[in-house]
Amino acid sequence: MNDIPYWTSPEQFEFAVTVVSCKRTDQHFEAVLDGNYIRAAEGGQAGERGLLVDKKTEAKILDTIVRDGTPTLVLDNEIAEGSKATLHIDMEWRRSLMRAHTAEHVLAAHLLKSIDGLQLGYIWLEDDHGTVRFLGPKISFDTIFEIERMVQQTISANLIVTSDLVRPDDAQTDVRSREGVTMKHETVRVVKIGDFDASACSGLHVEYTGSILFFKVTDIRYTENETTIEFSTGDKASAEVSSVYNDALARKSEYPFEMEQLGSVLDKGRMALDRYELLSESLLTVLSQESTQDRIGEISFRAYYLPGMDGGGIRNVVRQLKHEGPAARLYFVPGPKSNLVFWTDKLGSDAEHYIGEIVTKLGGRGGGSRQVFTGGFSDVESPEELYEDLVEHVRQTMSREEL
Ligand SMILES: [Zn+2]
Repeated sequence: MNDIPYWTSPEQFEFAVTVVSCKRTDQHFEAVLDGNYIRAAEGGQAGERGLLVDKKTEAKILDTIVRDGTPTLVLDNEIAEGSKATLHIDMEWRRSLMRAHTAEHVLAAHLLKSIDGLQLGYIWLEDDHGTVRFLGPKISFDTIFEIERMVQQTISANLIVTSDLVRPDDAQTDVRSREGVTMKHETVRVVKIGDFDASACSGLHVEYTGSILFFKVTDIRYTENETTIEFSTGDKASAEVSSVYNDALARKSEYPFEMEQLGSVLDKGRMALDRYELLSESLLTVLSQESTQDRIGEISFRAYYLPGMDGGGIRNVVRQLKHEGPAARLYFVPGPKSNLVFWTDKLGSDAEHYIGEIVTKLGGRGGGSRQVFTGGFSDVESPEELYEDLVEHVRQTMSREEL
């Protein structure tokens, strides 16, 4: 039995091995080798991949798992039991795991140093990508962005990463224990990142933090007492950032906007979409109510509740209004800031006469010409109630006049 563990020679990618067993499973084949050459999925790190080749067959190693306590290769092809074979480790895959795993150490160290009461929970690392959950106080977006900057600084500092086997009793108290490693083994492997962090861990790591190349948080999610952070490392991270940046860049001159304004461009887009939806609803309401028309004596009166409409649009409509006899129209745009335009034609008094008093009484401001009164309200809690009060008052004033 070859007991030299995979991690003592992370740069060795070819081994002469003997296939101890190879069994068919539902979809694949599972093989056990005569030694500890390749790392199985464990402690939140995905299993390694590669090729297993003997004189007759070539089998792809799709995954390496622990089956009944034994590292086991998941193969796409059968390799004869007892055959002498060559194991090729997929070094691109291994290096992606090393980058993501070391980045996870750096991220966790910065966060745990910065926030009291935080605990490292679930971890999954695969293909230059990491998912890490932190239990305890909610970590805000701003804090995570600040930590992201610190992680990148640690990468640029190119700190040395060392692994030492120590007895659990000798491990210093500031060594973070992961996955209960200290409990399970007679010796623990302590992974140090410069003098900055020490943690007990059996995974694969780069030799210098600079090899992580680039670190980018790609998603943040919250549940009641957990913050989940997704991140990418290496070329994958820079490719993801480039892709998003270039999406914006391609639209920059058409729109146009400056890259620094991207946040407010998105806010505007969101607002426009919200208003569009409100407006569509308003339009349907207005269209379906077009036949109902109030007559107060000789006066034709209509009121419109118009979420999403803007004041300019209403003033345009009002400019084009024509009516045979006496008429009044009330256009109301609800919101925390609610606005109204009250148009009149051939009435006995100024527009303000019918609506000015109630607008002031309800906490608004306004003014206008003989024909048109415009007004506004701020900090409106219940725009629908406000609208109904206005309509009711205008109706009453007009009916009094008609008597
Ligand atoms: Zn580790």
